[in-house]
Amino acid sequence: MTPPADAWQLDTLAVRAGQERSQFGEHSEALYLTSSFVFKNAAHAAARFSGAEEGMVYARFTNPTVDMMQRRLAALEGAERCVATASGMAAILATAMALLKAGDHVVASNGIFGATQQLFGGNILGKFGIETSFVPATDLDAYRAAVKPNTRLFFIETPSNPLTEVIDIAAVAEVAHAAGSVLVVDNCFCTPVLQRPLELGADLVIHSATKYLDGQGRVLGGAVCGGNALVEEVFKFLRTAGPTLSPFNAWVILKGLETLRLRMEAQSAAALKLAQWLEAQPRVARVFYPGLPSHPQHALAMRQQRAGGAIVSFEVEGGREAAWRVIDSTRLLSITANLGDTKTTITHPASTTHGRISASARAASGITEGLLRVAVGLEDIGDIEADLARGL
Ligand SMILES: *Cc1c(COP(=O)(O)O)cnc(C)c1O
Repeated sequence: MTPPADAWQLDTLAVRAGQERSQFGEHSEALYLTSSFVFKNAAHAAARFSGAEEGMVYARFTNPTVDMMQRRLAALEGAERCVATASGMAAILATAMALLKAGDHVVASNGIFGATQQLFGGNILGKFGIETSFVPATDLDAYRAAVKPNTRLFFIETPSNPLTEVIDIAAVAEVAHAAGSVLVVDNCFCTPVLQRPLELGADLVIHSATKYLDGQGRVLGGAVCGGNALVEEVFKFLRTAGPTLSPFNAWVILKGLETLRLRMEAQSAAALKLAQWLEAQPRVARVFYPGLPSHPQHALAMRQQRAGGAIVSFEVEGGREAAWRVIDSTRLLSITANLGDTKTTITHPASTTHGRISASARAASGITEGLLRVAVGLEDIGDIEADLARGL
């Protein structure tokens, strides 16, 4: 029995949506570690395989635990349907493979996740005859100017990584739709707690569930959420090609979703405090955080998002040497490129996440040698500040 999810508020959906109890009446969601399912007889098997009867067939495309996670995330995003994938990149690849063909053109914002940039702009999709134009993230005219007769898909990520540029989702949706394209939004940084792109006109939402949805740095996972017709196309690719989510990872993420709002709000509030503190530090040249009035798209961010998010980037005076000194002086913060964890992380984008991008492309997107990115976790904010103060 599916509960009346459409009548519930976000907090209730996060804890309850999608749960299906077995004959045992378990209170917590069950982990179904099974790759396949058995049928009552030959005709039953045939009906399940043909789709004449709905139900479980094989875990590459059906599993009850994965199903529960998909339905919970769909409810949180306000989507008709969600399909889970093995990772965030698998979600992006599956979307591209499902919706694009040779000869198609993509418009993508600058400052999207490094691997996404490689997938679209490097030699992977290009090898299959799919061409991508990258445009300055906040320049609406550039999106319009980039449209070609064969443009089929717009891909944006807001706030961008690591500079936290905020893109007007509704405005880009209008441009995309006028061009006969779908708009795909990577909602990894905000999660449905802070931003719901489908309500703003996006057609699909992408997640790296590896980040805030799990929230505690344990598993890889991804998801695509949206309307039935588009998600069905992505599902058909996944069913055949196979980069689906494991039941165990789905179970971890399902339980992670239960605390998503509490974590996002606490981590976002701490990030705002940290951003304000950083702005007052003499060796910090600039702070990038959508929740600060000094942020160029602060007004848009406050309209489009419920809070600024948990990612704060800042530029220290003195280039790479000074930035590395801040990292190497930490004793608490984790030196890792991951984000979305309860443990605060620090990274130097120019030499890690964006290290494989050419120096000129990096400079063009504003990722300087002095830039550091902190993904704020749940530790005491005073302890986080003290850890950064040492190197500053
Ligand atoms: C991490 C990340 C991805 C890729 O997700 P994986 O789960 O690592 O494959 C995509 N987009 C954004 C914004 C990310 O931070």
